[in-house]
Amino acid sequence: MTPVAAKNKPSTRNVRKKTAPLILRRARGLQILEAPQLARLSWLVHGFSTRLAGVSELEANHDSGKITENVLNLGFTDWDTRERVLNNRQNFFATLKASGMRVFALRQIHSDLVHVVSAANSQLSAEAPKGDALITNQSGLLLVVQTADCVPILLADKKRRAIAAIHSGWRGTRQRIAEKALGRMQMEFGTHPQDVFAALGPGIGQCCFEVGPEVAAEFAAKFPEAREWFKGPFDALARGDHDPNWLPWLTMRPPGHQLPEPRAHLDLIAANRAILGAAGVLPRNISSSVFCTACRTDLFFSYRRERVTGRMIAAIGIR
Ligand SMILES: [Zn+2]
Repeated sequence: MTPVAAKNKPSTRNVRKKTAPLILRRARGLQILEAPQLARLSWLVHGFSTRLAGVSELEANHDSGKITENVLNLGFTDWDTRERVLNNRQNFFATLKASGMRVFALRQIHSDLVHVVSAANSQLSAEAPKGDALITNQSGLLLVVQTADCVPILLADKKRRAIAAIHSGWRGTRQRIAEKALGRMQMEFGTHPQDVFAALGPGIGQCCFEVGPEVAAEFAAKFPEAREWFKGPFDALARGDHDPNWLPWLTMRPPGHQLPEPRAHLDLIAANRAILGAAGVLPRNISSSVFCTACRTDLFFSYRRERVTGRMIAAIGIR
């Protein structure tokens, strides 16, 4: 009602308006997600793959029974052949206009290990080192991370022309992998966080990402603002004591019929946005996917929902 209140409201609305979601682009029969701010950088190639199209054959359970689906699996999984995965990758990289680029990947271990990639380091290209983030400022190299629920994060420093590809599940998030990759860019390339555009790709949403007391406790110990990223009984879980209504219920039940342990829902996108923001990336320079991989298995792979499934790739490179 008052002019003051009216004036206060649009400020949060502006913040939201400024943070563009990722957009779906169709090309060469595929559909890929792009961040508009990254797409505007002429020296950069980037994109997040989706499940659609591709030559892999995944047997999926649907309401109508089992069907075999053609999917764009980009990870070497047990159920797929190497040949098909390579075929899919070739198609995806061509869609990004990254065909001639040298691909650098990781053996992802949910760590906070960051690797600096250079053309001189052929070892790194051949072996895929253990770790969860890659950074470079050299052209002709394509940095990739694989996901199926964890959040893939791409960073681009528009002034120094440096980039990062990051894999951030709850363990990586808890270890601030995005902040560490950015810190390493500062150290190696002189990156200033205010020059960085960040794109957070499709991961499991808060709607579906149920976690137990150990996750709540670890986040509470590491982040003063962690409560804002959880829905459900976060404080009780983090403290290690139970909801007072929960214990009596439990004792009234015969063994084997106990209520499940209380759980909370974690918002990995919100957590990573906050971590990048605290590290100096401007909120308006962070775009993120609005999709939940577990809700949208028509579009994405979800390990938590499907177990036997494919992998998506988030890729970034300097032309
Ligand atoms: Zn969901």
